[in-house]
Amino acid sequence: MSDIQCLSRHFDQLADEAAACVVCERMRERKAVLSRLNGALDPRVMFIAEAPGRNGADRTRIPFHGDTSGKNFESLLASIKLTRDEIFITNTVLCSPRKPSGANDKPSRAEIRNCSGFLRRQIELINPPVIATLGAVALDALKLIEPHGFQLREDAAKILRWNGRLLVPLYHPSPQVVITARTLDQQKRDFRSLLKAMRAQG
Ligand code: SF4
Repeated sequence: MSDIQCLSRHFDQLADEAAACVVCERMRERKAVLSRLNGALDPRVMFIAEAPGRNGADRTRIPFHGDTSGKNFESLLASIKLTRDEIFITNTVLCSPRKPSGANDKPSRAEIRNCSGFLRRQIELINPPVIATLGAVALDALKLIEPHGFQLREDAAKILRWNGRLLVPLYHPSPQVVITARTLDQQKRDFRSLLKAMRAQG
């Protein structure tokens, strides 16, 4: 069996395991967003966001597709001419956390911890040369895998070393973040650092 066949088989096993996972109480009815639709298994960069959105990945099963965050993300990718077949996208928690009203919610610390084994195994299996976190939740979640002291406010768009690879902390492209914290134009400038990191890795 070739390396890529072996990788694909192990990835599919991991995805099946995640699909059957019901560890988080309030996400028992939700299904993990982890499949070949998440992207290339030999990506130039792995993006890690917060959680699948109700109108985005939880509905379409494709991370950052189908909602405004997805549109913003695709415009950021296009700004550095990066295509989906060159990247892999995952989330700190693989299922979609909801408020009692049904609206999107942030994952709790316990839910992030519950899912950190899946995140660690995705990173180990795919072994991306560059990781780009999207938002503070994803950056903090990496501490459960390999401790670090990076903070989004201080370290956004810096090219850092973490766990044997390059790490570029980025802001999340949600409409709320774009309005209140980092405009899309600022995020496009941040993405140029990501491009530099990818070029440095060949
Ligand atoms: S978020 Fe992760 S740990 Fe929680 S139920 Fe979904 S797959 Fe399991």
